[in-house]
Amino acid sequence: MNGSRLLRVALNPTFERSTVASKTQNPKPILILHCKASSFKTTTMSDSSVPREKLMRNCRVKKREEEPLGGDMEDLFSENETHKIRISLLEWYDENQRDLPWRRRRSEIEKERRAYEVWVSEIMLQQTRVQTVMEYYKRWMQKWPTIYDLAQASLEEVNEMWAGLGYYRRARFLLEGAKMVVAGKEGIPNKASSLMKVKGIGEYTAGAIASIAFNEAVPVVDGNVIRVLSRLKAISANPKDRLTSRNFWKLAGQLVDPSRPGDFNQSLMELGATLCNVSKPSCSSCPVSSKCRAFSLSQENKTVSVTDYPTKVVKAKPRHDFCCVCVLEILNQKSKQSGGRFVLVKRPEGGLLAGLWEFPSVILDEETDLATRRDAINLYLKEVFHVEPKETCTVVSRKELGEFVHIFTHIRRKVFVELLVVQLTGGTNDLFKDQTKDTLTWKYVDSDVLSTMGLTSAVRKVYSMVEAHKLSLSVAPASSNRRAISRKRRIIT
Ligand code: SF4
Repeated sequence: MNGSRLLRVALNPTFERSTVASKTQNPKPILILHCKASSFKTTTMSDSSVPREKLMRNCRVKKREEEPLGGDMEDLFSENETHKIRISLLEWYDENQRDLPWRRRRSEIEKERRAYEVWVSEIMLQQTRVQTVMEYYKRWMQKWPTIYDLAQASLEEVNEMWAGLGYYRRARFLLEGAKMVVAGKEGIPNKASSLMKVKGIGEYTAGAIASIAFNEAVPVVDGNVIRVLSRLKAISANPKDRLTSRNFWKLAGQLVDPSRPGDFNQSLMELGATLCNVSKPSCSSCPVSSKCRAFSLSQENKTVSVTDYPTKVVKAKPRHDFCCVCVLEILNQKSKQSGGRFVLVKRPEGGLLAGLWEFPSVILDEETDLATRRDAINLYLKEVFHVEPKETCTVVSRKELGEFVHIFTHIRRKVFVELLVVQLTGGTNDLFKDQTKDTLTWKYVDSDVLSTMGLTSAVRKVYSMVEAHKLSLSVAPASSNRRAISRKRRIIT
């Protein structure tokens, strides 16, 4: 470990615990990272005279005692503030809460049903707008009204239902979590700590389910809650910082009302989603404006705005890449008319868009011209599908349909789309004939199936380009006829 590494780590006393744990197998010197920078020292796990477990324990205890509140979060709410915020928010929520399908009250005996509804809605709502989620939620509940129904579903069905919501890993984890709970035969756990052991349930979702469905007095912290808390306390520390984030949990935990924890948590989130929004907060209508430090600062000093809180974190720039998509349409051997079947490929079970269907495609690191893109696609089609013009197929038509940009969380992808219509020389039996040896899963479907399949928004966009192209082909003769007729009319007059 060199000097510059030492300096970087020493300046960062909140380095994650897992980093230390993951290095315990490493024979090289390992730094004890949990002590404050002032008590920071270099030692090894193996050469220290103090037993390793004791050393780590001492460090953790010391950290807990000395851990500051972080950033400028110098204090918690006073008892009086806590009391007033609880009362004001709950009263406001009782009057103003939005009527959302997952907020239906359920009787005591239906607590598990309520827990399932909260679970599904919270997973859907992560990174997706309420308006978008409503329709998805209703369709989901019609198909799988209980966790026991969901546990019977296949990943394929769940992905289809989720198509368009994005972040498909959440859907997969939801299904896996449901199967895990049903297999456990004890129902959905009613404590946040146990809920967090279920696949796909993190601290936020566990807090939401436990407080809303089972009345456990535990907090929730999402983007809306962070915004409200950082304004109430005028916190300018980076909300993404681990220590600051833990302190938002402490503040939310302090505020949560022990008699109505679920309603209180929802009221805090509701305030953030409605009045205390990102860019135009309605402070004049806010039930807790008298307790809001950012609001009072903005009243005292006109250069301060409540929207200065929370601190805006500069996002890492997304990686750019380029994708050539080839919509491969296979016509039957007797007819060269359009209306063939489309090849779809299943993505690998891990990574981006895991297990979802897409048209054959090739990712490129840099933008290239049409000829290079075609070469890349030709090679791919030949190697993977045995589709090779003049050798195994006849090309009926090949057309560039255009391009668009699709944004994933960390990738900005430029997508080039082409439609390749072929007729296979040896019929479809020759297509993918080495499939058993490969790990690739594929199918080919007709346009009716494709139109109703659950596809990701990018794949749907590609297919809509194909549909638009086919439509233009079918109306083209009519419009050229019209042009000919109007030319004729001009000559006659
Ligand atoms: S007063 Fe304004 S900034 Fe403060 S919590 Fe209310 S809406 Fe948000």
